[in-house]
Amino acid sequence: MTRHVSFIGLGSNLGESGDQLAQALIRLNQLPGTTLLAQSGLYRSAPVGYLDQPDFVNAVAKISTTLMPQVLLAALLQIERECGRERTFANAPRTLDLDVLLYDDRQIHEHGLTVPHPQMHRRAFVLLPLLDIEPDCVIPAVGSAREAMQGCLDQVLDRL
Ligand code: ADP
Ligand code: MG
Repeated sequence: MTRHVSFIGLGSNLGESGDQLAQALIRLNQLPGTTLLAQSGLYRSAPVGYLDQPDFVNAVAKISTTLMPQVLLAALLQIERECGRERTFANAPRTLDLDVLLYDDRQIHEHGLTVPHPQMHRRAFVLLPLLDIEPDCVIPAVGSAREAMQGCLDQVLDRL
């Protein structure tokens, strides 16, 4: 079966966030047809959107997978649920958020799935960990991740 490379964004700001992300990485590696190729360091960032909530811890993982994009997304949402995520309102605090950032060099606009993730090129908490593991990353229809990061230098991020 054809293998695909995908980058997954991980975030958490409730509970033991570092532990949640570590657990999520283990589960990613256990998905059918899927291998964890690389993981970034952990970064702490201030919330965006709804501000009255704890800081986030974020990371990015690079995987090799035979799962098709919609199947991969469904598996990520399942892992979120198993990690106790409750969907309350947009930008609400969450124990675990898993996003499909990139899937090969594809652009996907399907029901419930947009790839590249529409906000990724504006978010330092995505770009910095992504550049950790893929310094020459190109975001389809956007351009180099390194250049995108130049527009996000005002966002404060602590490497943990
Ligand atoms: P956010 O990650 O923006 O805070 P959620 O995690 O609550 O929001 O996701 C809401 C919905 O976003 C998901 O149910 C999913 O169908 C949709 N979605 C669209 N594109 C993507 C993507 N690339 N990765 C993850 N979810 C996506
Ligand atoms: Mg999400």
